[in-house]
Amino acid sequence: MESARRVLGPEATIVGVIGSPVAHSLSPLLHNTAFSALGLGGRWHSFAFEVRAGAAADALASMRLWEITGLSVTMPHKAAVAVLVDEVSETARRLDAVNCVINTDGRLRGINTDGDGFVASLARGADFHPAGRPCLVAGAGGAARAVVLALAAAGASSVTVANRTLGRARDAAALAGSAGLVVPLDDEGALAAAVRGADLVVNATPLGMTGTTRAPGAFGTPAPGGDTRTEAWAIPPGLLRAGQVAADLVYAPRPTPWLVAARGAGATALDGLGMLVHQAAAQLVQWTGLDAPVEEMWRAAEEASPAGS
Ligand code: NAP
Repeated sequence: MESARRVLGPEATIVGVIGSPVAHSLSPLLHNTAFSALGLGGRWHSFAFEVRAGAAADALASMRLWEITGLSVTMPHKAAVAVLVDEVSETARRLDAVNCVINTDGRLRGINTDGDGFVASLARGADFHPAGRPCLVAGAGGAARAVVLALAAAGASSVTVANRTLGRARDAAALAGSAGLVVPLDDEGALAAAVRGADLVVNATPLGMTGTTRAPGAFGTPAPGGDTRTEAWAIPPGLLRAGQVAADLVYAPRPTPWLVAARGAGATALDGLGMLVHQAAAQLVQWTGLDAPVEEMWRAAEEASPAGS
């Protein structure tokens, strides 16, 4: 951060993303595209700051010292930042996770835009609106929790969490209050019924992501024919049907193997690039006070990460 400020001078407005590894992050591209579209190019700049695990406090101290206006926060710092900022939003408090910090005269406020970004991406990418609709989320980690909370806040009639570790599923489902339900990932019959009854099925596990190894199949059984490889998805796509939206938070590769199979089953497929764009757009609104140029950000994301990549 120090070197960024030294190069750009005292008048520049600096934002960025902290994480590790962060070099691959699309966030600076999205932010800088938005600054250009808003006429802020040349004055507002976004950077990727590599901050190793355990060093979030140093990053926030630098944020104050170097008057960094905003930081997007990604793995592995979301939980640490939630207890380091001066103030957290209600959503970030419930999630124990901050994905955005706003610096107002040295006072740091943490918020979490992941869930709202996901819901906005459903509307933009699949014309899906959760109000009154049954939804199912596979996974119960940080991203899943944000999605569960946002779906419930958007009025989903039910939000069923299917996860390998049942205790974490219960914790995540509790975020949806009375709409929250749980189904074990390895209970074939219960999972099939829950998936078939859902209008929206979300993969919020890393399964299928480029660079991940193939993981235990949903039902823990080897594939037919003695092939001991296991599935690249948490929810068997054979359970999906036409009329459903299948949303994968993963966006590398585009599309994921699960989305290819979901489309084959007749579902509408949506990858995680839209969530990335919309959570960034919501952060920009906080930093600049301006409407985010979402379509320009979408275009930049699609160009940097085209379908088929
Ligand atoms: P996380 O906190 O590590 O949680 C991972 C979840 O996946 C856990 O519920 C875990 O189950 C489950 N899981 C992992 N490996 C599994 C396996 N082999 N079989 C069954 N379940 C498995 O991760 P996260 O931060 O929530 O991120 C999840 C995914 O969302 C990642 O791929 C991330 O890149 C993506 N994401 C995308 C965006 C976006 O903007 N598009 C934003 C955030 C995250 P257990 O609880 O049993 O361990």
